[in-house]
Amino acid sequence: MTAVAEFKNTLGRIHVENLGIYVHVPFCRVRCRFCAFYMEMSRDDRVQTFLEGLDHELCLYARDAGLRNIPVHTIYFGGGTPTTLTSQQLIRMLNAIRHWFAVEDDAEVSIEVHPGTVTPESLATLRQAGFTRLSVGGQSFDQNELRELGGRAFGGGVRQAISWARSAGFTNISLDLLFGFPGQSIESWQRTLDEAVAVSPTHLSCYAYTLEEGSPFYREVMRGKGAEPDQEFQVILEERAVERLAAAGFERYEISNYCRPGYECRHNMRYWQVQAYLGLGPSAQSCLGHARFGNVANLEWYADSLKKGTLPLDEMSCLSHDQVDCERVIWGLRMLSGVSVRLNSMENHQGRALLQIIHQLKNEGLLQVEGQERVKLTDLGIRYADTVAVALL
Ligand code: SF4
Repeated sequence: MTAVAEFKNTLGRIHVENLGIYVHVPFCRVRCRFCAFYMEMSRDDRVQTFLEGLDHELCLYARDAGLRNIPVHTIYFGGGTPTTLTSQQLIRMLNAIRHWFAVEDDAEVSIEVHPGTVTPESLATLRQAGFTRLSVGGQSFDQNELRELGGRAFGGGVRQAISWARSAGFTNISLDLLFGFPGQSIESWQRTLDEAVAVSPTHLSCYAYTLEEGSPFYREVMRGKGAEPDQEFQVILEERAVERLAAAGFERYEISNYCRPGYECRHNMRYWQVQAYLGLGPSAQSCLGHARFGNVANLEWYADSLKKGTLPLDEMSCLSHDQVDCERVIWGLRMLSGVSVRLNSMENHQGRALLQIIHQLKNEGLLQVEGQERVKLTDLGIRYADTVAVALL
C-alpha cells in the first residue's frame, strides 16, 4: 500500500472538524549554538527544491488525501527562519495553502522572523498578503550573550524589527526569549526582561535552555568544554520572569508562554489541546484524530519522494482511545488552566491506571484536582512539569 493510500485508509476512520497547518521552512543564515532543529544554510537552489516539494505536498494532502474541505483555523510558518526566503516566496506558499485548503477568513496566520532578515518593506508586504501574527526570535537583549548564542542579531535589531512590524500594521507580535544558558546572569536576564517589556509585545515565550543532541553546544559539552544547564539556576530565572511579566500585565497561560489578555497563540493551543494539525515540509509532525505521523528530516528525500507522488513520511502510528486520552492529559497540563478529565468515568484498565497516577501526583503536591473534571499543575508541579509528564506516560 502506498503512503497516500495508507494515509487515506487511516484518515477514513477519523473525523477532523478543523485544522491547523504548520510549514517547516528549513533554512537559516547561521546555526545558533543551542539549536538542533532540522535546518540547512539558505541557498537559492535548495529553496527552489523546497518550494517545489511543498507544492506537491499540498496537492497530495488536499486533493488525493481528501483534506481540502476541512476548515483551516490557523497557519504557522516556522523553521528554520522563514524570512530567509523572499517575501514573494513566502506569499507564494501562503497563496498555495489558500488555493488547496479551506482557510477561514479570520484564520491566525503566524510567521517566525529573525530581526536580521526583515525590512520595513518586507514586513509591510507580508502584512498586506495576510500574515496576521509575527513571532520574533529575540533570545536576549545582551549583545555579548547573543554573540555567545551564535545568532548574530543584536538587541537593537529586535527593537527595530518590532517597531517596523508595528508600522507595517502588525498588532499581534510575539517575542521569544531564552534563559539559563551558559554565561547568563540573573542581572542580565532581568535586563532582558525589562527590555522585552519595554518593546511591548502582545505575547512572550520564555524557553529554558536545554542541551539538545546535535547542537553545537552539545558537541562542546561532549568534548568537555561547555557546561550543562543548571536547573536550580533556571528555576530562579523562571521565577524572575513570572514576577516581572505578571507585574507588566502578562498572563502566564502555558508553562513557557505569556500574553496580554486575548493574545494566546491559537496555533500552539492546538498542540496543547491535541487538536488536528498538518505539518508540511521536511521534519514536520502531524496529528489528525488518532493518527500521528512525521516527515523525513532530509530535504533531498522529502523532495524526491513528493516528485514521485509519495508522501515523505518516515513514521506513522495510530493511537488507541486510551493513548489519545493520556496524550490530552500530558499536553493539557502544560496550560495553567489545566485540562478537563472526567475522573469519575474512568473505568477501563488504562483509565484507572491514569486516575491512580493523578491521585499520587496530587498527594505529592504536584497536581490539584478541581471537582470531578479539572486537573491542574500546582506551583510545584509547574516547576517539575517534566517529572509529571514522565509519570503520566
Ligand atoms: S534557533 Fe532558529 S534561527 Fe537559530 S539556527 Fe535554530 S532555527 Fe535557525
